Amino acid sequence: MKTTMRLGVAVLSGLLLQCNTILSLFGQGEEESPNLTALAALLLASQSSSSGSSTSLCNGIGTVSSRTSPEVACTLATSHPDAVNVPSWIRNNFTCVVTANVSGTTFSIQTRGLPDHKSAYWTDSNKKESMPSGRSANPNTITNGVLSTVNFWKDPAAQANTGAATDLSHVGIAVNGVYIYNNSAAAPDTLSEEISTLDKGNGHPTNTEAFHYHIEPCKVSSDDSSLVGIIRDGYPVYGKKDEDGTYPTNLDATTHGHSHTTNLFPSGIFHYHVTDSDPYIISNYRGTKTP
Ligand SMILES: [Zn+2]
Ligand SMILES: [Zn+2]
Repeated sequence: MKTTMRLGVAVLSGLLLQCNTILSLFGQGEEESPNLTALAALLLASQSSSSGSSTSLCNGIGTVSSRTSPEVACTLATSHPDAVNVPSWIRNNFTCVVTANVSGTTFSIQTRGLPDHKSAYWTDSNKKESMPSGRSANPNTITNGVLSTVNFWKDPAAQANTGAATDLSHVGIAVNGVYIYNNSAAAPDTLSEEISTLDKGNGHPTNTEAFHYHIEPCKVSSDDSSLVGIIRDGYPVYGKKDEDGTYPTNLDATTHGHSHTTNLFPSGIFHYHVTDSDPYIISNYRGTKTP
């Protein structure tokens, strides 16, 4: 049915539209299987970077924008009367979101998912920039984004470790308020179609304006140790490197994370790391998805 409708749209428009852009008969949905397994290989093959651990899915694509001087002003206030009850690592590092305490064990983050950086997908010409070389934007655009309120455990370690597969739609929120999606693309899209629509921040929107990252978000973290965001089980996700400048070598096979101390968590915490190959940002939860 979806394919039929997509074909219908394509015929009506007279354009050869890319499939992942037309969808979403189901809420914010856009991302389904198949897996993006070959994404990194295709991306890296399209770049002139050298092989080895110094390659990055951001090579030749985009550069990290300053977290203190974003390219695009946020559209949401960053404070809330209850924000004092939100964990400090959230309160002090997440922008373009509203945080609030909602119960004794969870807090919420409200966002529109709009990037704090330029993108080919903005309707506002002042926020637009070109697509990376060799890529072309899908027909979707972003103006107001999609407002969502997402809950997170205050103490994810107090919940059970599940290893459960992540699901469709947002599986986390980046530090700039953009939605994090998992390592799946919307069937029946091909991987090359998915790659070809990522902007210079390695993000793109669904047809419901849900802007999201699947892979290394170049304007948040580019081959570095930056805090990237929070996953829906409450654990943080960092860039490709640890804070000592090295690439992790002991990531868990299921979750692609590990546990040690970080500047934000001097007592140690489990955290995910962005990788150049599947699962890129996330495939399976370490802990329990927050209701
Ligand atoms: Zn996507
Ligand atoms: Zn680490």
